[in-house]
Parts: sequence; C-alpha cells; structure tokens
Amino acid sequence: MQSGPEKVLLQDWKTPYQTPPFDEIKSAHFMPAFLATMEAEKAEVEAIAGSGQEPTFENTIEALERSGELLDRVGRVFGCLNSAETNEQLQAISRDIAPLRARHNDDVKLNEALFARIREIYQKRDRLGLTAEQDTLLENYYLSFVRSGADLNDEDKKKLRSINEELSKLYVEFRQNHLKQTNAIGLVIDKKEDLAGLPGDVVQAAAEMAVERDMPGKWVFTLQKPSFIPFLMHSEKRQLREIVFKAYVNRGNNDDEFDNKKLISRIASLRVRRANLLGYETHADYVLERNMAKTPEKVYALLNDLWEPALRRARKEVADMQAIIDREGGDFKLEAWDWWYYAERLKKEKYDLDDAMLRPYFKMENVRKGAFDVAEKLYGIRFVKRDDIAVYHPDVEVFEVLEADGTHIGIFYSDYYPRDGKRSGAWSSSFRSQSNIGGDFITPLVYNVGNFAKPTADKPSLMSMDEVETLFHELGHGLNSLFGNTVYSGSRRVPRDFVELPSQIMENWAREPAVLKTYALHYETGEPMPEELIDKIERARHFNQGFMTVEYLAASYLDMDWHVLTDTAERDVAQFEEESMRKIGLIPEIESRYQSTNFGHIFSSGGYSSGYYSYIWAAVLDADAFRAFKETDLFNKDLAASFRKHVLSMGSNDTMAQYIRFRGAEPTVDALLERRGLD
Ligand SMILES: [Zn+2]
Repeated sequence: MQSGPEKVLLQDWKTPYQTPPFDEIKSAHFMPAFLATMEAEKAEVEAIAGSGQEPTFENTIEALERSGELLDRVGRVFGCLNSAETNEQLQAISRDIAPLRARHNDDVKLNEALFARIREIYQKRDRLGLTAEQDTLLENYYLSFVRSGADLNDEDKKKLRSINEELSKLYVEFRQNHLKQTNAIGLVIDKKEDLAGLPGDVVQAAAEMAVERDMPGKWVFTLQKPSFIPFLMHSEKRQLREIVFKAYVNRGNNDDEFDNKKLISRIASLRVRRANLLGYETHADYVLERNMAKTPEKVYALLNDLWEPALRRARKEVADMQAIIDREGGDFKLEAWDWWYYAERLKKEKYDLDDAMLRPYFKMENVRKGAFDVAEKLYGIRFVKRDDIAVYHPDVEVFEVLEADGTHIGIFYSDYYPRDGKRSGAWSSSFRSQSNIGGDFITPLVYNVGNFAKPTADKPSLMSMDEVETLFHELGHGLNSLFGNTVYSGSRRVPRDFVELPSQIMENWAREPAVLKTYALHYETGEPMPEELIDKIERARHFNQGFMTVEYLAASYLDMDWHVLTDTAERDVAQFEEESMRKIGLIPEIESRYQSTNFGHIFSSGGYSSGYYSYIWAAVLDADAFRAFKETDLFNKDLAASFRKHVLSMGSNDTMAQYIRFRGAEPTVDALLERRGLD
C-alpha cells in the first residue's frame, strides 16, 4: 500500500465502514490515482490472461471479478464528485481521463489471450458444475467481451478503439456544455410588477439567487428545475414565461461555444458505425438485445400502444385550458410556455388544488423520513443518522441502514439541493457494491442526489409533489443497491428497462392517502395534511397525465429515432427532430422539454441511448406489481419479502422469470392505463 496524504485514494480507508474520507480527498489526487490504478488493473488482467494454467471459472472469471478493485473505487468517487460537486479542475481531469479510460477498457476487452480463456470456459459451461449465479456471471463476461468487439479482426478492433475514444470525448463535451447551460441565467427581473403571480417563497429564492450571482436587489431565475418550473407555473407575465421556457428548451442550441448540435450528429453517426462493426444494423438493435424489450420493434410497439390514448387525453387538456383563456378574453392560442401556468389554473378550478397548498406539508426532512418509514414497514429495516462519516458537501447527510435485528446492511447518503457544481436531474449510485466472494462480505455504500427546492433564509426546503415522488423514486434505486445479496456483484447486471421497477414502485406509496397521512406534516404546526386535501390529491390523480405521458413519449420516440438510423450521414439536428415529431403528430401546444440538444440522458453518455423508453416499460411492471400490494395490504410483509428476494437482491439474465417468481404471471398494461387515466 502506498502512503502519503496525496495517496489517500489508494490506501486502505480506516474510516467507519471504509467510507470515502472526503475530508482528505483533493481534486488533484485523482489524475495520479487513475493512472496508478489503471496500471495495476492492467497488470492483474495480464497475469490472468498469461497464466499458464488451464482456464477455469476460478482462475479466470472469478479472478477478473476480483481485479480492478481500486480503479473501480477511484472511478466511483470521481464520478460522484464530478456530477454532484464539480469544479474546473475536476472537469479538466474528466476531459483528460475519458479517452484514457476508454482506451484502458478496450485494452481489457480486446485482449485476445484473455478472451480465448473466457470463450473456452463459456463453451464448456455445461460441464463445469457451476451454480446458477456463476453461470449468469460467466455469461455476462462472455457477452460483454463479444459486445465490446473481442471477436473482431485486428483492423476492425482498431476502428472500434478509435470510435470509442472519440465518443468518450464527445460525451464529456456534451456534459460540460449541458452543465454550463443549465446553470445559465434564464431571466433577470428588476421590476417588482414583473413578479406578478409568483408565490412569496419563489420570489425570495429568486432574490437569494440574485445575491449569489452578484445582482443584489434583483430577482434571478436559472434554468435549474426548482427555479424555472415554479416560474412557469405561477408567472402571470406571458412574455416572460416564453423567455424562460425557450431558454430552457434551447439549452445547447444557441449557436455559441456551448452548442451541442455538431456533437449530436457526430455521436449518432459514430454509434451506427460501431453497431455495424459489431454486426448490428442499428445502435438500437445493439443496445436492446440485452434489455427486456430485445428489439426496436417491441419498443415502438409499446410507445404506439400508448401514444393515441395519451394524445387524446392531452387534446382534452388543451381544450379545458383554452376555455379558461377564452373566458378571460385572452385572445390567444395556448402555447407550450403557457401549459404549466394554465395547468395550475385548471387544477385549482377543477380540484381546488395547487402546488402552493401542498408544499408546506412537504418539508424535505419529513418527506425523507416518510420514504424511510415506507422501507421500514415493508422490509423491517431501519435508517439511523450518522454524524461521524465524512461528506463532500455540507448538504450531504449520512444514514446507516440496519436489519430489524441490528445487522448492518450498508450506508446511505442523501444530497438533495441544487448548486452550480451539480448537474440537473436526480440519480442514485454507489461508492461500493455488495459482494461476498470467498465469504468476504462487502457492504454497499449508496447515495442519492437530487435537485429539490432549496431552503431559503426563513423557510426549510418545501418540496413539490413531483419532487416528493422523485425522492421516493431514488430511494427505490438505493434499496435495490442496498439489498444486493449475491456472491458476485457482476451477476446482478440489471437491464435498463427493468432497473426502473424498484424505483418507480416506491412512487406509488408516496401518493397513497394512508402513507401521506403519516409523513405530510405541516412544517410549522406539525399537523398532518388534512383529510380534505388528501382527498383532493386523490381526485386529481389523473390530472395532466395526458401532457406528462405525451411529453415523455415524444422524448422516447426521439431517442429511438436517433438510434434506428442505418446510415452514418451526419444530420441537421433541428430538421431531424422536427421530422421525428411530425411523424408522430405531436400537437403544437406541447413542446417536449427533452430536445436533442439538451437530452443528457441519451447524449451525455452511452447510458440511456435507445433506453429512454425504459421508464414506461418499467411503469407497466411497477403498476402491475403495486397492484399486488394494493389488492392485499399496502404493507404486505410476505409480498415485500418476495419482492426483496426475487427483484431487489439478485440479478439474472431472465428478468421476466424473476418478475414472475414474485408476481406469479407476466404483467399486463391495464394497471398502467388505469393509473394514468388513459383507459
Ligand atoms: Zn430511476
């Protein structure tokens, strides 16, 4: 083990549960740590590949699973900081390291001697007496090597390497442009009358943002969600709503140094080239092969099934909102930047419900406790606050997760407020995964990051219903990681369109009246949310679901359209997108917030490319799964235990079989249609 404070990333951590010692980690430590740990992994891999012994599961697959531990650790800590608390130094490292890591990854995956060993073991797998889990792990390694080009000839391998390297650089560029533009100022207000309609806390947050941006006395709205969404919902100034909305959707599309159009066209083209090299017609075919959906046709079929019912409902929502405009003598047609405002008005009118009535009951600390309580009631676990574990920002809080009998499960970090160094959105990830090789049980370190309403000088964080659901959602991903219970973490590969089941199912509990009663407490009086207000939420359940579904489906179609391209021609991004939306007949009153130039899910990494549909695919599963609880007992312990065992703790290459073990049958779409009021 190397020593010295600059080597902290490479040392054994003497911290509680070997948590990252964030108080000692400096940005400057990462580059040398990356170089050293890549070198170390390379040596480990070469030793496995060059072993004179006959290849066995243990000396090859299990040895690979054990290798690269330090690189993995450095990469995960870096990944967290670079997404949630970045700075110029980390961004520069990210630019420099991306191509080196892509190259390193290719060095491993394209190592011929190593692949020959894996193939040999794979071919005789039936005779090896492997456990089911070992068999899954072996298949994962074999397919991951083949899908990374291990079977290609030398010339094609070279081409593949250069594509991967270029893509890795394009992703970093996209990500950095995206962050810059999300933190950009969407609107500065300097006249009080331009604040018309905005609730007091929104005005206050904007005033504080102005101070932060050196414009004291003014009001600043950024393109971060908690800043611009309340503005769109409440501002009575139509022209200002238009400015903010356009600034948001046009992130990455301003023909300036942060423009993403060229990057996108190049990324799409390189993805086709790579798919072709690997023997697939399109990038989507390549990606989907290992998802539940399997083929682009299946994805389009699901989107098409939902599109018409969703559009029908959205048209009705337009008519309802236009009626308000007409009645008030508005003399204009509802536009995309009016939607949020009139949807709020409509909700108020139809259900006597609005965002401002709910927020006082959704103090972050109460909501988080509500989510913890749901997990406690379902699985018998406990979350205990720890103040002795280092964090990377004062907003981060740490909890120890324990079984009912006190057994340590893992550590959970929450980091919920927006700041300039944090990218938009919400996510769950981990500093370390569970594993149990050779009886050495490694416990997981899991974190959730969000961009929820920030506390102001005189009020705590008061969340919107949407943010509440997101918090529950991310905790669901967190539980999935915390409950891992396998020998090899590599056997728990979860397909993208299955991984949203554990998260989305949690959102159902967030909305349940019986659960709301327990955590939605007024931040000043501590009174539970009145029955009457809970009833209103229940009645408004289908409200705006046409819009939500259409906006989401439009983005999913756009993602798929980019990735079923069969030629490598570079494209005019605006024209491509217009054509894509024209084909599905998107109505002009809805403009999806996810446009190519700001579609981080699909262009800032390989992550969700031809995978944005996953949320609705998994929604079919989670609606069906939640029905099992709803029909018996919201906190049915036997069902929860079965869900934990079959869905949350393990992985397999037949996720439908896993689901059926829990539910007894394949899911149908009706639970989802009913939930969204599209039936
Ligand atoms: Zn998710």
